[in-house]
Amino acid sequence: MTSDVPGWERAPYLRELDTSVVACGGGAGTAWAILADTVLYPEGGGQPCDRGWIDDTPVAAVRRTPDGIVHELASPVTCGPVKVRVDWERRFDHMQQHTAQHLLTALAQDRFGWPTTAFHLGERVSDIELNAPALGAAQLRELEEAAAAEIRAARPVRAYRIRPEEAAALPIRTRGLPAGHRGDVRLVEIAGLDLNTCGGTHVASTCEIESVALLGAEPMRGGTRLYFVAGGRVRRMLHDQADALAGLRTVLGAPDQELAAVAQSKLDALRSAERLARRLQDEAADALGEALAAGGEPLAHRHHHDKDLTFLQRAARRFAELAPAGVVLLTADSAMGSVFCLAAGQAAPVDVGALARAFTDVVGGRCGGAGRLFQGKIPSLDRRGAGIEAVRRALSPPSPR
Ligand SMILES: [Zn+2]
Repeated sequence: MTSDVPGWERAPYLRELDTSVVACGGGAGTAWAILADTVLYPEGGGQPCDRGWIDDTPVAAVRRTPDGIVHELASPVTCGPVKVRVDWERRFDHMQQHTAQHLLTALAQDRFGWPTTAFHLGERVSDIELNAPALGAAQLRELEEAAAAEIRAARPVRAYRIRPEEAAALPIRTRGLPAGHRGDVRLVEIAGLDLNTCGGTHVASTCEIESVALLGAEPMRGGTRLYFVAGGRVRRMLHDQADALAGLRTVLGAPDQELAAVAQSKLDALRSAERLARRLQDEAADALGEALAAGGEPLAHRHHHDKDLTFLQRAARRFAELAPAGVVLLTADSAMGSVFCLAAGQAAPVDVGALARAFTDVVGGRCGGAGRLFQGKIPSLDRRGAGIEAVRRALSPPSPR
């Protein structure tokens, strides 16, 4: 143990430490501090940084800099004696996930010949990238069983430093060190199973991993990405999934093993009901167009509640087919707002766009369209009657005296 070894490294179970702020700066949102010693792990090696408190000031992030370990703070602190505390729940979770990664990496290499090329400790789920072809369900179960056996074996896990020249004689799995690394090499050993270089925090025995669940694998950059959860996360995920299943059982009224089939049959029934609803809607739109065309008025108009623009357009097209000289103005409102559609038969001597603009000039909103059919959204139906009158006037301009 040397004085330049930070608290989180020499004693990963240390939750708080009396120390002092030796440098600080910044204001609200940019405050920072460097401590004489710290129990907060800075980000590195796939493991996210710790969070915690300097006295009562929350530490939002911790990172390594050439000047030392910088604590990013919610508000400024002053130099002098302080107590630094780690958010232990978050840290112990990270120790479980990280040690599980060491275990999986060792087993994947030794039992299956799959080297680990990357590790990512996620918020919910973590993953390792294996230089291995696609893994099947049977291989995942085999690896998971092997991990469970090593957890039950309660193998001691310890971290220590050696001189670089001592490393050559040791069976170290990965010799990769950060660029520019100088001085001692930190090793993490799972007794009888693994010896690896690592700067992170780990549990003291594989039994503290509790359990590892392999969630699935997917192809990734020529290898395979393997997703896992360990420790308390296994129970939390199980509880979340049990709650989700309970919700589905209530909604679908079926036991777990029938949920997928029941959901599928309800979706099939829904799709068929939607097809029927569309057909009935189309028939109603056609019937509306036909009824208005049969009326024979020079400007047919109608308002519909709870109908959309698609309905109006279909009704207007049907009208224009059956009444070549007629003009139709339809409006509708629904939870989506109010809309209108204006159309004319091929033989009607009118500029449909100009008629639509005559309508929106009075009721507001904008219109668009082409040829014999224009439509648009309107802000309200309050001036609908006046808008219809404006279209009627545009259709029959006063004769010159
Ligand atoms: Zn590690």
